[in-house]
Amino acid sequence: MTDTISRKTFDQVMVPNYAPGAVIPVRGQGSRVWDQSGKEYIDLAGGIAVTALGHAHPELVKVLSDQAGQLWHLSNVLANEPAIHLAKRLTEITFAERLFFANSGAEANEAAFKLARRYAFDHFGPERNTILSCSNSFHGRTLFTVSVGGQQKYREGFEPVPAGIKHTPFNDIDALEAVFDSSICAFVVEPVQGEGGVTSADPEFLKRARELCDQHRALLVFDEIQTGVGRTGSLYAYMQYGVEPDILTTAKALGNGFPIAAMLTKTTVAQSLKVGTHGSTYGGNPMGCAVANKVLEIINTPDVLKGVASRHALLMEGLREINQRYNVFSDLRGKGLLIGAQVAGQYARNAKGFMAAALAEGVLALVAGPDVLRLAPSLIIPEQDLQEGLQRLERAIAHVVEG
Ligand SMILES: *Cc1c(COP(=O)(O)O)cnc(C)c1O
Repeated sequence: MTDTISRKTFDQVMVPNYAPGAVIPVRGQGSRVWDQSGKEYIDLAGGIAVTALGHAHPELVKVLSDQAGQLWHLSNVLANEPAIHLAKRLTEITFAERLFFANSGAEANEAAFKLARRYAFDHFGPERNTILSCSNSFHGRTLFTVSVGGQQKYREGFEPVPAGIKHTPFNDIDALEAVFDSSICAFVVEPVQGEGGVTSADPEFLKRARELCDQHRALLVFDEIQTGVGRTGSLYAYMQYGVEPDILTTAKALGNGFPIAAMLTKTTVAQSLKVGTHGSTYGGNPMGCAVANKVLEIINTPDVLKGVASRHALLMEGLREINQRYNVFSDLRGKGLLIGAQVAGQYARNAKGFMAAALAEGVLALVAGPDVLRLAPSLIIPEQDLQEGLQRLERAIAHVVEG
């Protein structure tokens, strides 16, 4: 049993639902990680937009180890201090008045969708139960969340899916107006579609969605699981759009890699999750909440948030320069440090090829669908690491282009 573990072992013992890269990282520090053989990588992926403060951040290591020596678990049979601190903090710095904690993005969305239905049930009766979502959206991998998500490929073969779900084209105001009626209990949207290809919502689309929700007494739900916690340059993306949701879900960067998620809402809406209506064994556990408290304390500062804007500029400029030399991208887009490069021409449908080449050159990158190379580095990645990462990425692109 103490035999060496390799990437090959993974294929022998794991369900084949993932296809991880060719190496196994074993250590990380800031925006650099090292694999089993000691090779170093620049991390421009951050997991999947998760490690917003990089790896082994000393303040996070300290808060996690302090909490580990203090109290791990109580379940929700008893309250715990870190959860109350975290909820209090989130109510102070966002639109929210009430919190529900979960362990993953999908679970936070599951809570949001259940709450939306329950709220409509309480106030308007059982007929108002349709959850409206956008084409190409992504909301998680549980059966309810893949059903609400707007990508057929994630549902295929898992039918029958829950009823009472509709989809409307992203950023299409006319279609949104046409589909809205009194059967809709909630409209859920990502301010920037992450998995769907790093596509930003038009401000007018979100503003109109807010109006339509008010008009039809439906709840507006922002899935900020990927865009939240500073990723787009404001603490939450809704803050730069100037459109407030009724429910917001956050996960990914919230725990910087320690699993934690939250559903944020208003008191009037929250009332519909009465005692016993919903729950989670691990949700709001002291470890995750202690880490998330520190993550928010560090990220929600003018310094860190301004740093996202300057790093965005650097990264976009670097990508534009690379593209001038290799002409592989037809579009460079995104907000803050959630950046998508649309792969064009003969390389279209093969963003994965660039990702694999990047790994070989010592840089961690991501894809968002078949055509988009996605970058989501730490919000505090040192400029030097960013430049080094861009140089390695350019070498990777050169390899792909030159065969
Ligand atoms: C990642 C993601 C989810 C799912 O989060 P998990 O923690 O993987 O369950 C849901 N919505 C969006 C927008 C995401 O990016």
